[in-house]
Amino acid sequence: MSSPLDLVRADLRGFAGYKSARSDRLEGSVWLNANESAWANAGDDAGRARRYPDPQPAKLRATLAELYGCAPEQLLVGRGSDEAIDLLVRALCRPGDDAILTTPPTFGMYAVNARLHGTRVVEVPLIDDTAGWRCDFNAVGDAVEREGVRLVFLCSPGNPTGSSLPLREIEALATRLDGRALVVVDEAYGEYSESPSAGTLLQTRRNVAVLRTLSKAHALAGERIGTVIADAELIDVLRRCQAPYPLPASCVAAAERALEPVARAATAAAVRTSIEQRDRLVPLLGRLPGVRQVYPTRANFVLVRFDDAQRAFDRLLDAGIVVRDMRAAPGLGNALRISLGTPEQNEAVLDALAAQVTT
Ligand SMILES: *Cc1c(COP(=O)(O)O)cnc(C)c1O
Repeated sequence: MSSPLDLVRADLRGFAGYKSARSDRLEGSVWLNANESAWANAGDDAGRARRYPDPQPAKLRATLAELYGCAPEQLLVGRGSDEAIDLLVRALCRPGDDAILTTPPTFGMYAVNARLHGTRVVEVPLIDDTAGWRCDFNAVGDAVEREGVRLVFLCSPGNPTGSSLPLREIEALATRLDGRALVVVDEAYGEYSESPSAGTLLQTRRNVAVLRTLSKAHALAGERIGTVIADAELIDVLRRCQAPYPLPASCVAAAERALEPVARAATAAAVRTSIEQRDRLVPLLGRLPGVRQVYPTRANFVLVRFDDAQRAFDRLLDAGIVVRDMRAAPGLGNALRISLGTPEQNEAVLDALAAQVTT
């Protein structure tokens, strides 16, 4: 098995990054090394903002490692998993040369980051099956070998498809691409899927990375806390490419509170409610006239094809309900993505769509 360091841009392998005042391991009681003010801001009630924050707070890192079942050294915390995507693209792909691979329809940020970085995007579309969306893993492997792909972005459960990818196939792909590419599995919706995380593959495959976030099931999108889990040596490289102080102290404090046992129990209960709602809603949506197809989903949203998506979108909007219009995405010309809401909100969605045919 190759070291994932072989996949890092050669010009960055020895790169130390910015050496911030907080990166020196010094002991002292009077800290006069970072040009911070000697007095707290009068508006800073908690008094925690005067100092630059810890770049990777040990307590949050340990809590997240326990949550996701990995070692703290295998994990980097950042400003949402969006930052992790950006770091991976920048650390592994030479601008103008290497490529990333995506499987559309999928999350848009992979291609956005590649474009900003001057990196090509190779696409291997998912296969639209009546039973859900499937990834053509053989075609992905072939395209990686043919096109100089460094990073494969898989999303499971997929956004906007809702389909999960089989772990065995992800593992086989990582084995095939050993020494050639990093297989990134974005599990932003993993909490809703009830299948094992691709993080379990790290025990045997060093070229796998997993993205997790507090933005979805943990209901903390506003605090911007996401995580990349990967081989410890690769995590070390990503850390050196990251901004000096990526995590605001107030966001770290909010994340720590959100991961205390009581909050975690409430999160688990909310996830269970969402799953119950999902399993109730999907068949009901499928029975509505004007609905052409409802894809099976393992996430907290559902992708629906309509006879007339504009009409469905407008009816929902008339009821004050805003859903995601997917019609600009290739192959989704008649589709909307509807997030699960509270039971009352989901009922309102059904009512608005049912009214569509009677008027
Ligand atoms: C929402 C979402 C993210 C973004 O997560 P942040 O942690 O908020 O940046 C990442 N990937 C997918 C597939 C998402 O849907």
